[in-house]
Amino acid sequence: MKFFTLFGSPVAHSISPRMHNLALKGLHVDGCYTRYHLKDGLKLRESFYKLRLDGANITVPYKEDALRQADFLDAFAKKIGAVNTLVNKNGQLHGYNTDALGFYRAIASFKDIDSVLILGAGGTAKAIASILKEKDIKTTILNRSNKRLGFFKDEGFEVYTWEDFNPKRFSLIVNTTSAGLKDDVLPLHKPLLSSLMKKADYAFDVIYNKTTPFMSLAKAHKLTCKDGADMLLCQGVLAFNLFFDNKFNETEITNHMRGAFSL
Ligand code: NDP
Repeated sequence: MKFFTLFGSPVAHSISPRMHNLALKGLHVDGCYTRYHLKDGLKLRESFYKLRLDGANITVPYKEDALRQADFLDAFAKKIGAVNTLVNKNGQLHGYNTDALGFYRAIASFKDIDSVLILGAGGTAKAIASILKEKDIKTTILNRSNKRLGFFKDEGFEVYTWEDFNPKRFSLIVNTTSAGLKDDVLPLHKPLLSSLMKKADYAFDVIYNKTTPFMSLAKAHKLTCKDGADMLLCQGVLAFNLFFDNKFNETEITNHMRGAFSL
């Protein structure tokens, strides 16, 4: 039997176990995917082996711990500085990041994106900015504070704080902040966000399972909108196939996992 888990804190809210268990069952794999509330990120590797896992996903706030504790890193995960998928290969931990490609696949229906504004500068922003750069899409980062902008500056992105931002047109605005997750606040003050949305075509919020104030405002401005559900689904499909050395058909995994969103 194969064993998998989701490490994070908190993990109770996540639908990843449901997604993966539906895929395991649907594809007739003798396996089980659980959730594990990890209190100390330094114990990630130790916990992985204690649980005799074949693979794991890592969520907030341990993606950087996973990066440091893996034996081998996929080049893209190394570049982003965050690992959300660990695979046990002959006793050694291989680290990957599927959030970035998951996001890119989730926006496949957004056509002709020429410029993107990312709100926030955390781990998710790094993943999204890196994949957009790889796809040659001009990307600007706007964060409320300076403290996490170093990575983006070093990577050659245009970066701003609320104080020095010079508004212009962006075709897609992405909220990667946690504003709206547990509260009802916008990730940017309303007059500025409204003026940006007036000129934009698309809005994407990485948060899923609720209509955030960011999404409500984007809908009021009649933007084409998406929340983080498809990103979660796509990163899950990619992670599942990493667990099994790409032996399953992605469409089939997707169809099974999609059931987790309709329960
Ligand atoms: P981090 O903690 O690494 O970064 C959070 C960012 O949000 C920081 O830049 C922070 O600014 C900013 N921020 C937080 N609160 C506010 C606020 N009230 N107003 C403005 N800015 C704010 O988080 P992650 O990047 O790891 O995760 C962010 C979100 O992405 C979470 O909600 C997570 O659930 C979601 N997510 C969704 C995924 C999906 O598949 N749909 C996958 C991965 C994550 P500062 O630097 O100033 O502190």
